[in-house]
Amino acid sequence: MQSRLEPLLTTIRAFLSQESALRRAVPLLIPAISLGAWFAFGEVGLLVCAFLLPLPFLMTTSFMTGTRRRARNEVDGLTGLLTPAGFERQMQEKMATLDEDGRTTACFSIKIDNFARLRENHGDQAAEEVLRYVADRLKNALRGGDLISRAGDAAFSVALDPIAHFDIESGIQMATRFQTAIEEPIPLQMASIYVTCSIGFCLSSRLNRPSATAMIQAADMAMCEAQLTGDSNIRAYSTDMGRKVISRRKTQSEAARTLQRDQIRAWFQPQVSTDTGQVTGFEALARWEHPERGILAPVQFLEVLHQTGQMGQLADLMLRQSLDAVRAWDDAGFSVPMVGVNFAGEELRSPTLVERIQWELDRTELEANRLGIEVLESVVAGTPDDMVVRNVEAVNAMGCSIDLDDFGTGHASISSIRRLPVKRIKIDRSFVTNIDRDPDQQRMIAAIVTMAERLGLETLAEGVENPAEHAMLAQLGCSHVQGFGIARPMPFHETLKWMKAHQEKIGPALQIGHKPR
Ligand code: C2E
Ligand code: CA
Ligand code: CA
Repeated sequence: MQSRLEPLLTTIRAFLSQESALRRAVPLLIPAISLGAWFAFGEVGLLVCAFLLPLPFLMTTSFMTGTRRRARNEVDGLTGLLTPAGFERQMQEKMATLDEDGRTTACFSIKIDNFARLRENHGDQAAEEVLRYVADRLKNALRGGDLISRAGDAAFSVALDPIAHFDIESGIQMATRFQTAIEEPIPLQMASIYVTCSIGFCLSSRLNRPSATAMIQAADMAMCEAQLTGDSNIRAYSTDMGRKVISRRKTQSEAARTLQRDQIRAWFQPQVSTDTGQVTGFEALARWEHPERGILAPVQFLEVLHQTGQMGQLADLMLRQSLDAVRAWDDAGFSVPMVGVNFAGEELRSPTLVERIQWELDRTELEANRLGIEVLESVVAGTPDDMVVRNVEAVNAMGCSIDLDDFGTGHASISSIRRLPVKRIKIDRSFVTNIDRDPDQQRMIAAIVTMAERLGLETLAEGVENPAEHAMLAQLGCSHVQGFGIARPMPFHETLKWMKAHQEKIGPALQIGHKPR
């Protein structure tokens, strides 16, 4: 019933909101009409016209003022887009017409990845500029009747004007269009900023009762799924997503207590020399060995450990297990020069960091040069932070080596790299993918390797997935490689088997290991 009345109501609203010349002229004619009524019907006619005629106009005017006030309240001050409330209301109006003509619509939830980090690194002004750019680019990618809102700090929602045919394929194409527009470099005063975004979308045909609220929630859910698989992803809503989200929430609340249960383990991924093929180290990566759900990756628990202030405990656990592993490799007669451990920004600010590392080295009787500390480029690129610099310098002075992780993603300037005693840069996977086939990627890596050589730094390429990429990186002068193409991260006991097989593969000349104690 409501949906049948909706077109009529829309027409009335449209008429009342029209600023037509006729609507403005009618009140001016009231005295003349009243006079005519007096001539025709006497005093009764005069009274009826004089009192009753202005009423509809008074009502219309108050309705219009309300409408204008509401329109003002429904606009976001920074971007000029709709607010979430305005978006939902207008979307519901559009959706009410869907049943009648079989048309369909889609809702997109778009979020800029790592926006908090961008704000931290570049400041509020640059962050707001980025939001304005993104808003404009999205607006330009839409048609007149489509709706768009700013749905949170770095989030946007889009609802399409209903159309006759829109399927998953069209949804992916449209999301890719939004993504391409947003991910173009954003020119700011000092430098260009690169952002990526995650997009989830929901088709109205996918929901049993597609209200605006349900569509927005479903698109948000799909966007969260997209974010979970890494930056710059797109996901379409499917009905089993709701179940997955509930299971994930359960996982997260469990994760907050998991460190006490001793279920987090260091797994190890080898790094090899492009010259000799020899193992030059292992990176320790955290895995949650869940008794029911199997092996869970850091993306499923790091955030919760971070929120519950347990990153320090994680670092201690990883450090202990990593140095135990080096000790065990030595004892088994394998040559593993070093192990790399990841330290989050907050850990690098800890006043007890240096003592804790020294204590673990003493406990395992290992030289400090057997331990590498992986520091994210984004931590170095951030605002000058004396505590991080002092800690990293102190750890380096002890003899540990410093790797700059995810190089190329955090926009660290060369001078900020020089602020820290970095020994090696770990070139991010995004520069490595397709390196064997893509000349642009080859030029980027060649430039990074040349820069590193001039600065006296070693290079390691991350995410090497096949022999062709491995060979091209060796040709371009990258000294170390790490990735699924060499081996996936594995639990400690598998590293022994893997190294034996690897040594057999690269030949006996290279089987020179540390002597067993
Ligand atoms: P990261 O330090 O950049 O680690 C490399 C990530 O790339 C790992 O993901 C690894 O499994 C994955 N990887 C390695 N080779 C390949 C490849 O060839 N292809 C692809 N597609 N991926 C590859 P993982 O283990 O899921 O870790 C994700 C991130 O979580 C790490 O990125 C690191 O930043 C963080 N992390 C892991 N363990 C710890 C930890 O103990 N402490 C802290 N603070 N962060 C950790
Ligand atoms: Ca790392
Ligand atoms: Ca990395």
